[in-house]
Amino acid sequence: MFRKLFSSTLIITIFSSLAFAQQAPAPSVDKLREHVTYLASEKLEGRRTGTKGSDAAAKYIAGEYERLGLLPFPRNGKSANSYLQPFPFVVGVALGKGNSLSFGTSAPRVGEDWMPLGFSVNTRFENIPAVFVAYGITAADLNYDDYSRTSAADKVAIAFAAAPDDDNPHSRFARYRDPRWRAVAARNAGAKALFLIVRAANFNEAHLSRLHFDNSAGDAGIPVIAISRQTALKLLNLPSDAALADLESSVKPNANSAAPGVGSNADKVNPISAITLATSVVREIGPAHNVVGILEGSDPILKKEAIVIGAHYDHLGRGGEGSLAPKEGDVHHGADDNASGTAGLLELARIFTAHRPRRTIVFAAFSGEEEGLLGSNYYVTRPAVPLVNTIAMINMDMIGRMKENKLVIGGVGTAPEWRPIIEAANLLQGVTVSATGAPASTRNYPLVVASNGRAIVTSDSAKQFVITMNEDGFGPSDHSSFYAKQIPVLFFWTGTHDDYHKPSDTADKINYTDHARIVSVVAKIVREVDSTDKRPTYVATKTPAAGRSTGFRVYLGTIPNYSDSSDGLLLDGVREDSPAAKAGLQAGDRIVKLAGRDIRNVYDYTHALSEMKADNEYEVEVLRGITRLTLKLTPAARK
Ligand SMILES: [Zn+2]
Repeated sequence: MFRKLFSSTLIITIFSSLAFAQQAPAPSVDKLREHVTYLASEKLEGRRTGTKGSDAAAKYIAGEYERLGLLPFPRNGKSANSYLQPFPFVVGVALGKGNSLSFGTSAPRVGEDWMPLGFSVNTRFENIPAVFVAYGITAADLNYDDYSRTSAADKVAIAFAAAPDDDNPHSRFARYRDPRWRAVAARNAGAKALFLIVRAANFNEAHLSRLHFDNSAGDAGIPVIAISRQTALKLLNLPSDAALADLESSVKPNANSAAPGVGSNADKVNPISAITLATSVVREIGPAHNVVGILEGSDPILKKEAIVIGAHYDHLGRGGEGSLAPKEGDVHHGADDNASGTAGLLELARIFTAHRPRRTIVFAAFSGEEEGLLGSNYYVTRPAVPLVNTIAMINMDMIGRMKENKLVIGGVGTAPEWRPIIEAANLLQGVTVSATGAPASTRNYPLVVASNGRAIVTSDSAKQFVITMNEDGFGPSDHSSFYAKQIPVLFFWTGTHDDYHKPSDTADKINYTDHARIVSVVAKIVREVDSTDKRPTYVATKTPAAGRSTGFRVYLGTIPNYSDSSDGLLLDGVREDSPAAKAGLQAGDRIVKLAGRDIRNVYDYTHALSEMKADNEYEVEVLRGITRLTLKLTPAARK
């Protein structure tokens, strides 16, 4: 006779999982190290999406799938390539044909005297007058507006590319200096185009002189070009470099006042009255691939259902966008972020192949994560198994740096089944079964006790993780894409560290022993989900108004989609009980107008947000399918 100390479901859980555990191999510390060491090696150059390094990583992952006998992605053939799911990705931009600028007798040359920015639209206009707008910054929260003194409507706005107080990293203008933001401000002011005067005396030394694509979100809606100081002299009808420098210093607001250019020479500037411009920027579409392998379920009926196990394999290449390194150029190894999760994925593929679950398991190594969850966002539009039959998504992102047994699991609020399953899987880590009764140990506590009082099953708490469970199903990794489609998710993470998004995130710093233990717990959780016929129940999580801070005063509760877009801001979700939810906004809506501002992309949206005040009512226009709706929205104060 057993005496039950825990609930019977827990004991059943423990035994069913134990039985599985004994039939399948355990995660291998050596194999994890091998995978991470290769993926994070110099050779792969940081695996930036769209580069050779990321192609090599994809090939490696596909090779492992093939060796394990995983099935390829349904629509593809039977080569190793067939695991690759291509998705559209802009790797860069190039100058198209027919870029030209002219005014009066001048015709500055593209590439030498001026350059369109990567997010400029392609356009052509003739004989448009210009207006000088100092820095071209509008900052509602600073009560600062370079467009307040003069109308830029239907004109070319000419501004300094620098910002006031530019050498101060804590400048109150720092948030507004991004050319993206100034493009939004110019467009909001009705300008036809924005010309930014570079700071460097030699145009080719200016950062803006190099055509650059930021890969985040759509075009600016107007042409935006960088111009040399020599070109600026002519455009502004100034006699000398010294006059331009004088102008620049005269428009700086003084330290205490936010008022733009008061008492400055700005009003004396008399720019050229007829500018002709043609811009052409061509987007270069490059290869980007998710690597998807399928392990068909062993149960003839349940195999129609799938669990997606995912990890992104891309990283930051040699720096740039997303990097926290002081300079570009060094390989960002991305051992923890996210060679660790990718290695975990490959180990789970090996473990589950040795003992197949009843349901189909889709192994998805995502790319484009660092650029804004692009790969997983694409996957959910073309899934290997239909999303209605996808019962859960398990994501591993940065699981290699466990310290003091601490593990963070996100998405726990997305299904009521998660918490007990996680707790049981964790408990199981320290479980010992002994027919003769366990040896006495202070750390061991009995789970099942025989009628003679001897502990038959004991658990050692020191072998368990200290788990922080977060409810939210949205977050800064690929599970978010699935949760947005109403799929229960779990997200495994060992926390951030000093090497995060820096070249120093290297393979030698991974804690492989605990890495393997995490993979083992993930395996137990997947087995447990698969052990019942009932699927986890999707729940919309209620989360506080925290989330990703935009630094602004108001909170709406939207989950924006970060894919490239120029036709509005697509919402992946709306938080329960948030201002956005109360306004009637829904996942899948595309915001095209907010608080009187046209919204093409996430920059426009954030800019509009910066102008809004809590507890004031605003109109928001959305496209829902083919219907255009106008809703009333009242932002809340950010706590
Ligand atoms: Zn990252």
